[in-house]
Amino acid sequence: MRNPDQQYIAYPANTIRIIQSHDFQFLKKYGQNFLIDLHVMEKIVRAAGAGPDDIVIEIGPGIGSLTQVLAEEAGRVIAVEIDRRLIPILSQNLAAYSNVEIVEGDFLKLDLPAFFKEKHIDRPVKVVANLPYYITTPIIMALFESGIPLDNVTVMVQEEVARRMQSGPGTKDYGALSLAVQYYASAYIAAYVPQNCFMPRPGVGSAVIRLTRFTEPPVRVQDEKLLFGLIRAAFAQRRKTLVNSIANSPELKFTKEEVAGALKELNLSETIRGEALDLEQFARLAEVLHG
Ligand code: SAM
Repeated sequence: MRNPDQQYIAYPANTIRIIQSHDFQFLKKYGQNFLIDLHVMEKIVRAAGAGPDDIVIEIGPGIGSLTQVLAEEAGRVIAVEIDRRLIPILSQNLAAYSNVEIVEGDFLKLDLPAFFKEKHIDRPVKVVANLPYYITTPIIMALFESGIPLDNVTVMVQEEVARRMQSGPGTKDYGALSLAVQYYASAYIAAYVPQNCFMPRPGVGSAVIRLTRFTEPPVRVQDEKLLFGLIRAAFAQRRKTLVNSIANSPELKFTKEEVAGALKELNLSETIRGEALDLEQFARLAEVLHG
């Protein structure tokens, strides 16, 4: 339970006061829908498991509502915000928390290993974010692919994106993101969050999903880059056969005959589409084509 005497930024009256006193205009292009529900924030912090020994990286702190709750629980919070107008507001709102560091920048443009070094991050971090939908996939991929020490990534995403991460072959939500998430992490939906928990209200419902990084991926491949190349090719043209999508991919150098031969070796039809394969089958295909 939060301290009832504490003036939380997330209280709607406080959020409104801060927005008005700074004459802040929400920017759609940065997906600025601020969370105004303390219970949802509690769920996020609990799902992330943030405690006194933890370093938390928050992507997109906004006016600092979730940052404040994180600062009360975690040992150290590093918050990266792209919108320059929010930096003085964040500094003012979080002045009482000496364990918070605010960094101005586009998280997608950060050289993550260099950033970790610069900030003397010496243990696996917990990443927490309430993200605009259009950067969810690139941010999650960048976090996993960069090889930085990660414990978990707990993110608020559109409900549909949360479903996509957990879906398998034969469902309409299944795609490259599902396979990437399933390769790197186990996914757990910690909460469904209705539109009225945000200011301004977004057009769709959201969900908090926690991705806990596997120590070992569930399938083994010799060439991870090839595996993800095949997955990207398969879903870039998902209505095409796998043979055509792989042979047409500018990123890959296989002929139709080579792909058809590999599929035959795996007892799969030459006319199969990529969306019918699960992670294990993509991994086996990558192994055959690698050979
Ligand atoms: N964390 C706050 C909350 O929960 O109320 C704000 C969430 S709001 C949905 C998304 C925030 O991410 C905004 O403050 C926006 O400016 C910031 N943002 C958007 N793109 C970003 C990026 N590429 N790097 C860092 N921050 C970003």
